[in-house]
Amino acid sequence: MTNILVVADIKQGELKGSTAELLSKARALGADTAVVAVGGQVKDLADQLAAAGSDTQFIVEDASLEIFSANPFAAAVVKAANEFNADMVWFGFSETGKAAAPRVAVQLEAACATEIIDVTIDGDAVQIIRPAIANKVLQKVKVNTPKLVAVVRAGAFEADPEIAGKENVVALDPPETDTRAKIKELISDASGEIDLTDADIVVSVGRGAKDQTGVDMVKALADDLAAGFGSSRAMVDAGLMAHNKQVGQTGKIVAPSLYIAVGISGAIQHLAGMNGSKVILAVNKDPEAPIFNVADFGIVGDLFDVVPLLKEEIKKIRA
Ligand code: FAD
Repeated sequence: MTNILVVADIKQGELKGSTAELLSKARALGADTAVVAVGGQVKDLADQLAAAGSDTQFIVEDASLEIFSANPFAAAVVKAANEFNADMVWFGFSETGKAAAPRVAVQLEAACATEIIDVTIDGDAVQIIRPAIANKVLQKVKVNTPKLVAVVRAGAFEADPEIAGKENVVALDPPETDTRAKIKELISDASGEIDLTDADIVVSVGRGAKDQTGVDMVKALADDLAAGFGSSRAMVDAGLMAHNKQVGQTGKIVAPSLYIAVGISGAIQHLAGMNGSKVILAVNKDPEAPIFNVADFGIVGDLFDVVPLLKEEIKKIRA
């Protein structure tokens, strides 16, 4: 039996959906599942963590862990991994996961694989699949180390609502760590906007929107849909959108149920951040735009005509 430890993805005290997705996949593989929650106030999440599909919940709670810092966080995960005798440790695709995973891998003498989209277990043989070269190819990698630390790409697995674990809470003391760098304060994005990586719908704006008026028009569409509002790099470079809104190879990777690309050409670097979306709708005046190669639905037209029409239709549906 394989033991898979999932690292709970917790943001501002809330358990993110990726935790249930990873636990569902681990159970589907027939593994024994545990979850580790690390933070300043996490023990109240134990029942949610069990409901999400874990049979053991390791809780590492301490005021010193309130603000994420990679070394203490990784040390706490390693402690839980050792307690559970984990063969694999899975992180969701978050800043926390990306920072902590390599540290955990080093301490467990495990292989570390990032951006994985699938895992298979056949006896002792573990194989992972991950995209490479800006999503142009998929690599199948045979894992030949006894342990694996994996960062799973957003949207790779689906949560099974039928799945539930059982509550078995194990409190662990935070291990002593060499904290060379300490984050004193986190200044969060106070805009109150929906986080792109969590959003069920993402509307992104590209250079076709031209200027601030165009951006505001597309943003209003995102607001009507209660969607995350993203952007191509061209709009970030033009100073019209903040860098934390950039979707793509050098921005955020999103995998919402619906991705609406407005005035975006579909450069490979943009596709690398959104082509895992379940349904893609593209609006572009150029019928040859590469975005249409990945779109499930395409509207060829001027976005300044199309977006107001979409808003009207959404209003009618919502009325
Ligand atoms: P354009 O390519 O200029 O496309 C604009 C589109 O709008 C066109 O298809 C045009 O037909 C359409 N259009 C124009 N007017 C209208 C209108 N009125 N109505 C409807 N459609 C209209 N890009 C990213 O997005 N994310 C990344 O992470 C990223 N990382 C990169 C990393 C590297 C190393 C490099 C070299 C590039 C990276 N890029 C990234 C940049 C990428 O190559 C493209 O330049 C960028 O995605 C283009 O943005 P765009 O589609 O908005 O603009």
